[in-house]
Amino acid sequence: MLMKKEYDVLIAGTGAAGLYGALQFPDNVSVLMISKRELTLSNSSLAQGGVAAVLDLENDDYSLHIQDTLTAGKNKNNIKAVEVLVKEGPGDVRRIKELGVDFDMNSDGTMQKTLEAGHCRHRIVHHKDSTGKAIVDALIAKVKERPNIDICENTLMYKLDQTKDGFLAGLIMPDGNSQIVGAHYCLLASGGIGRVYQYTTNSAIATGDGITLAYMLGAEIKHLSWIQFHPTAFAAENDRERFLISEAVRGEGAVLLNCNGERFAEKYDPRGHLAPRDVVSNAIMQEAKATNSEKFYLDITHKDPEFIKNRFPMIYKKCLEENIDITKQWIPVFPCQHYLMGGIDVDLHARTTVDRLYAAGECSHTGVHGANRLASNSLLEALVFSRRAAEDIIERMKTDENLPFGDFPEHEDLSGKPMPHGHRTEIRKLIQDCHFVIPNHDLAPKSLERITEIISDIIGGGYEINRDFVEARSLAIVAGIILREVIKGYDA
Ligand SMILES: Cc1cc2nc3c(=O)[nH]c(=O)nc-3n(C[C@H](O)[C@H](O)[C@H](O)COP(=O)(O)OP(=O)(O)OC[C@H]3O[C@@H](n4cnc5c(N)ncnc54)[C@H](O)[C@@H]3O)c2cc1C
Repeated sequence: MLMKKEYDVLIAGTGAAGLYGALQFPDNVSVLMISKRELTLSNSSLAQGGVAAVLDLENDDYSLHIQDTLTAGKNKNNIKAVEVLVKEGPGDVRRIKELGVDFDMNSDGTMQKTLEAGHCRHRIVHHKDSTGKAIVDALIAKVKERPNIDICENTLMYKLDQTKDGFLAGLIMPDGNSQIVGAHYCLLASGGIGRVYQYTTNSAIATGDGITLAYMLGAEIKHLSWIQFHPTAFAAENDRERFLISEAVRGEGAVLLNCNGERFAEKYDPRGHLAPRDVVSNAIMQEAKATNSEKFYLDITHKDPEFIKNRFPMIYKKCLEENIDITKQWIPVFPCQHYLMGGIDVDLHARTTVDRLYAAGECSHTGVHGANRLASNSLLEALVFSRRAAEDIIERMKTDENLPFGDFPEHEDLSGKPMPHGHRTEIRKLIQDCHFVIPNHDLAPKSLERITEIISDIIGGGYEINRDFVEARSLAIVAGIILREVIKGYDA
């Protein structure tokens, strides 16, 4: 049950973008936050390495962080958005620290800063190797204290219709029934698309629902085929959700080895295993061809075991569960899908091309990442641009009329035939085969044909509207957009 029939603002998502955005609104602005699963199941909660920010102007400089971001992004970034990110981000990092995020500290009271691939300075602040969880936990605690924010978990948005003064959103409530809610503004903070791949580091929520709903409303979607593959995910035999071995492990001295135990990254790029992610992923795929083996390893055994356990407690524990003691054994790794650079196109205020619709975090395309995200810039982007979205909405509310929604049907019938099994598995295989680290352009037209058939079946099949249906629809639509971009060419 919702507390109200209509709200000023609806926020879809309780990751870093949704939570930080919600906290910007004063008590006289009513906010409904929803998450389609439990509050903490998100990519934000999985973030390990940290948040990149220039916090020490004696040893670092905005221009250096800007340059690192542009270099990683192959200069395809939106330079204005990068400047906003880098110059405003430190303020947001300090703000979340005040809100209770427990960053690791030095004895002199400054935040500890580590190095990650692609950064020329130590500027990544962190909470051990579980920074995302520390951020999400602290922000959820704050959101729960706010009288103007209602939170509904296990509540999935399946449709978003535009009205004169906002939106009517269709939600599937925890009991499986529909509930329609009015909101004058909507902030999509619904995360990425990792689950369109067979192997990903992303959490189960990353099915591109927000991107699909925005697309169905006619919002511009940009660069969905700009996908980052992380070079060092734990190479588990069977798990589709692959555990990440953070860049920070290489930053702290781990070495990348091929199946023969040889260093190889320097052969492909002088920056070696500390080159940006796409470069290292590419090097691994080329080395796989050269050695005819997909076996790769990270070796950090030369470091003090106590240091490793203290600096990377989560990675240490997770690997131990897979029978790898990283203080003594090499960690098996291989690239997999990790992050989406593209998304719902937004301006510097996180406005989409649809009036009153905003997007922030991984579902959005601000242009800050260009063609390849610099490590630890995405939590920063989620913070900076969700705050900017909220500021813009607060400003608009001063002049927008925002009449009550009046009467509208509060429920709708979601019943239908059960959707046949297999669509999601097939979509994942088509995308994995066609658009992994080195794309297979020849396959794309045929794959798109098949995806188009799947979309027609899902949309026209008269199926029951439930989570499975909504997520399959999102994966199919997202896959279709990706493949059309692949066919048009890289810069589509
Ligand atoms: C393993 C891993 C490690 C990472 N490490 C780092 C790092 O160290 N530093 C860094 O900067 N970035 C890192 N990233 C990337 C970063 O974590 C994400 O890009 C960022 O957290 C995304 O935040 P978000 O708020 O946009 O989305 P998310 O945190 O993914 O949240 C999405 C929310 O949307 C909700 N949602 C989705 N669809 C619906 C729907 N239909 N209805 C209702 N709710 C919906 C979900 O329930 C969820 O609450 C990492 C990512 C992964 C996967």
